[in-house]
Amino acid sequence: MANKSIYRRRTKIVATVGPACSDKAVLSRLIKAGVNVFRLNFSYAVYDNLERVIRDVRDLNRQLGAHTALLGDLQGPKIRVGEIQNNGITLRKGDKILFTTVPCMGDAQHIYLNYKEFPLDVEEGDLVLLDDGKIKLEVLRSNRLDEVELVTVYGGLLTSKKGVNLPNTKVSLPSLTEKDQRDLNFILDHDLDWVALSFVRSPNDVKELRKRIQDRGKDTHIISKIEKPAAVAEIDAIIAESDGIMVARGDLGVEYPIEKLPLIQKSIVKKCLNQCKPVIIATQMMESMITQFMPTRAEANDVANAVLDGADALMLSGETSVGQHPVQVIEYMSRIIETVEQEVEGIYYREHAESADSEQSLSDSLCYLAGRAAKYVRAHGIVGLTRSGYTAYQVASYRPLCSVFIFTPNPRLLTRISLIWGVRAFFYDKQSGTNQTIDEVLSFLKNHKYIRKGDVVVNTGAMPVGSDGRANFLKISRIG
Ligand code: PGA
Ligand code: MN
Repeated sequence: MANKSIYRRRTKIVATVGPACSDKAVLSRLIKAGVNVFRLNFSYAVYDNLERVIRDVRDLNRQLGAHTALLGDLQGPKIRVGEIQNNGITLRKGDKILFTTVPCMGDAQHIYLNYKEFPLDVEEGDLVLLDDGKIKLEVLRSNRLDEVELVTVYGGLLTSKKGVNLPNTKVSLPSLTEKDQRDLNFILDHDLDWVALSFVRSPNDVKELRKRIQDRGKDTHIISKIEKPAAVAEIDAIIAESDGIMVARGDLGVEYPIEKLPLIQKSIVKKCLNQCKPVIIATQMMESMITQFMPTRAEANDVANAVLDGADALMLSGETSVGQHPVQVIEYMSRIIETVEQEVEGIYYREHAESADSEQSLSDSLCYLAGRAAKYVRAHGIVGLTRSGYTAYQVASYRPLCSVFIFTPNPRLLTRISLIWGVRAFFYDKQSGTNQTIDEVLSFLKNHKYIRKGDVVVNTGAMPVGSDGRANFLKISRIG
């Protein structure tokens, strides 16, 4: 592969903010080490702290000339056990226990569950998994009011507030709890770039969230977290309804047979690429680095394989939020990603099926052809002009080998598309004609040494650049 200098990391890194990295100095080191998106996990939200982090990241973006995005991750209908007395209770195989929906201090006889409809929703024989699947119970009977009796299939120590997964139960909880609605308001008030919704079960969950966002006059983009079997069953429609997808392997690995995870991951990534939607691979990518200074061989393989699958971004959770070496995690992850991207040609040029004849398919085809043209003329870069970001998503999904430069008059887009594979964004808001605009953005790229005299560049996008239109032009030029 020709020109080494055109390589830089394409696959993006999402890092979860937490006590281990929320200092401005550490946030700054993380951005410099390569974080593209910070995830704020609202399961542990303290608004005052989050407000400070948001301010710091935006400050740092200005100082460092970075476009680090912010993603607010809503807890969704996460079920938990209540407080448990002493330091928890030990459940052994065959032990019976009552789950009650009446608040109480948990003990060896009964434990509170924060899910009022549980006795109505469960069936005899349903499985109940506690603490990431470490403990497995089976439903014996329900009084259909406030109590469910369970028997331990395999046991362990159960402590306060641990998570509960119900892989077979049709959970009637709303997709947005009261807490989520408060957190969503916070996310919209602070204009975060992305909002992620946990435990999505159907495309309607996404529609409902979209309506709430629109009712507040906002356009925050939605990531659906795929972590329930019901979501896997409706994956095509959920991808269509969402702006992006997260393969949330933490909960999915509990609710779904673990041996199916590797292939589900590959299949979801492929579907997202076909629908031109960004996809994040999440959870336990570098887990051992929470305490260790180096990833395991298995983790290095996992990161490399996610890059080969074609993911837009890889996510870190505990590794950066509570881990001992947050900056080193980013450095290691970057190195693994870059090495794979430089050596494997198969990542690039994902062919798309020929599309039907419609206005939208014409502009989609134009973006696709921009990628094909770039390959054909060995272009140094593709330059996209867009207000909505649509061109960026389309061009990136072809996974071109050359650089992708996106110019936009929409300041919100500069940070939002940091999540997207291979894309870099720049601000441009002049109302010039097509040729003059192209001249200006190419001069900019040349002056900033992104491209050089003699390089070939493919230009595409929507003109005029301030319009909300889809891509409507394609031009190949040589830098003079
Ligand atoms: P969580 O989501 O960390 O919010 O649970 C990710 C996952 O389940 O993998
Ligand atoms: Mn989860």
